[in-house]
Amino acid sequence: MPNLHKVRKIELLGRHTFRVVLERNDFKFTAGQCVNIGLPGSGINREYSSYSSETADELVFLIREVEGGTVTPALMKLKAGDQVEVDGPYGEFWIRTPNDGRKYYFIASGTGIAPFHCFVKTYPKLDYQIIHGVRAADEQYDRADFEGGSRYVGCVSQGTGGDFKGRVTGYLTEKGVDKNGVYYLCGNRGMINDVYDLLREKGVGGTNIITETFF
Ligand SMILES: Cc1cc2nc3c(=O)[nH]c(=O)nc-3n(C[C@H](O)[C@H](O)[C@H](O)COP(=O)(O)OP(=O)(O)OC[C@H]3O[C@@H](n4cnc5c(N)ncnc54)[C@H](O)[C@@H]3O)c2cc1C
Repeated sequence: MPNLHKVRKIELLGRHTFRVVLERNDFKFTAGQCVNIGLPGSGINREYSSYSSETADELVFLIREVEGGTVTPALMKLKAGDQVEVDGPYGEFWIRTPNDGRKYYFIASGTGIAPFHCFVKTYPKLDYQIIHGVRAADEQYDRADFEGGSRYVGCVSQGTGGDFKGRVTGYLTEKGVDKNGVYYLCGNRGMINDVYDLLREKGVGGTNIITETFF
């Protein structure tokens, strides 16, 4: 049975991206897992990865509105005090041995950065780098949360700004790949397939590449 959670606030970050902040209640999950969120009684829900840490006192999700989509336009219109149904947690996209001394590479497109934000807030000692693909520079939400931005590389495909002009695959091709790293990929299927193939070509073992496809 899904649980009802009260909306604390909706934070608009741009024209189509927003944070949903919910009361936590007693909800438990492992960093990297997702939940199903839907409007009460609608019978329709969608999966969202937690953006907030395992121990935060609220549940936060980073969501992109899909124009004409079934659920996201309604979520974007929620107000403080409304309720949503939350079901879960689900998923296997979590870190088996955090703080094992290995270097983690988190490669995201768009809101695919959500589980990585959760990882770094949950495991402050993690040795990691974020490589984030976005269309425009103003989609690099919360880059300062990744150790003041020092562990964050923004790959901006359109316009100016960011750390690299182009896609995450362009960045990896230019900068090279750490064969001994552990790679977590999250976002759209096209990015995940392209990065997976590139990493395998460069000699990264298949067991060191873990993926979560959003759409
Ligand atoms: C495990 C998992 C975790 C997810 N976590 C998140 C998350 O943290 N944040 C988040 O924003 N989304 C996340 N998603 C995607 C989310 O579940 C929905 O697919 C998305 O919000 C669209 O819902 P909708 O009902 O508005 O659109 P729908 O009516 O379901 O879809 C309309 C179309 O839009 C496409 N689409 C879906 N998402 C996007 C997108 N972001 N950009 C462009 N096109 C898209 C779909 O492929 C579909 O063709 C996750 C998906 C999965 C499987």
